[in-house]
Amino acid sequence: MQSLTQKAQATGAAAARESLAKSKLSLGDFAHLISPAAAELLEHMGRRSHAMTQQRFGKVIRMFAPLYLSNECVNNCQYCGFSRDNPILRVTLSLEDVKREAQALKEQGFRNLLLVAGEHPKFVSNNYLKDCIAALHYDWPGISLEVGPMETADYRPLVEAGADGLVVYQETYDRKIYADMHTAGPKRNFDWRLETPERAYAAGFRRLGISPLYGLADWRFEAVGVAAHADYLLRNCWKAQLTISLPRLRPCAGEFQPLTHMTDRDLAQLVCAFRLMFPDVGLVLSTREPAKLRAGLIPLGITMMSAGSHTEPGGYTGAGKEKIHHTERGRIVELASGASEWAPTPEHATNATGQFQIADERSADEVADLIRRLGYEPVWKDWDAALTA
Ligand code: SF4
Repeated sequence: MQSLTQKAQATGAAAARESLAKSKLSLGDFAHLISPAAAELLEHMGRRSHAMTQQRFGKVIRMFAPLYLSNECVNNCQYCGFSRDNPILRVTLSLEDVKREAQALKEQGFRNLLLVAGEHPKFVSNNYLKDCIAALHYDWPGISLEVGPMETADYRPLVEAGADGLVVYQETYDRKIYADMHTAGPKRNFDWRLETPERAYAAGFRRLGISPLYGLADWRFEAVGVAAHADYLLRNCWKAQLTISLPRLRPCAGEFQPLTHMTDRDLAQLVCAFRLMFPDVGLVLSTREPAKLRAGLIPLGITMMSAGSHTEPGGYTGAGKEKIHHTERGRIVELASGASEWAPTPEHATNATGQFQIADERSADEVADLIRRLGYEPVWKDWDAALTA
């Protein structure tokens, strides 16, 4: 990976142009396309990427919504608001709360759900997840999970209950930075996380999502890492649909500052490079990015978007408020009104704390309107999943 990253830094204009002209790219070509030299060819890359996306995916954007089940977590990940040691307001939604949140999303039009939870075996047990999936399965043709990694045998009941997708961000492909960022909890194990998509595939998940979190290691290094990972998964988990997300760090509790910077133009270049390298891989853009940039990236190769998102459990309906508690260094402290700056008072937050601040605060309707104005159709239901179910 290091040599490909060096290649990406040192590529000249001629090599970048040569790679751009190919119909089938190698990882070396991908490195050329994310080079500073290729940045000068962005317009050309954008045109090719746009044409390839329309040819493979049509003019549609698949819509999904994250539903946060719990913000309890046993890990300390320095860049995450849910880190164990952050003194935030926490809650795990009951089954009834989850159904209420899902109903609110269904009324907005969504049919693809991403169930998200921190890693906490006590609050987010496998049985809890299974019950949530089983309760939603009838109404939701697409249910994906973004939860703590598990053994294959533990994934199987979740697939049987109706989940079909698994998203796991490696966060960073740099082992040294990974060790620095993950200071406590099971997430410290880099390899266990890296091998998660294969365990999920072996358990029967047929939609796999991967990504680094941009803002930790150099973005070109991360891009090479996730491209190599995707290349491997496409060859070894070939029955699955693969998606690559493009999350950049956002402000959150703990006030972690990004270690590296990735510009909007870098992000646009990366979208094009992913599309040209992986013509059939879905590219996911969340509400971490502001409205204007999201609109600009759609024609370049994005195929899947979230909208109207909340990153706090209960954020869509206020469900679970009565069970919110405060934690101090991982210990639950009963919440007394006015007892802390986080306590729910008329002036302060009344919901659990979110994982990070979103940047695009438009409603799902507003985002869908914008997608239509750009000439695309927002697709709420994952027809492939429905047909293969
Ligand atoms: S990134 Fe995930 S594992 Fe880490 S603290 Fe946040 S919720 Fe927990």
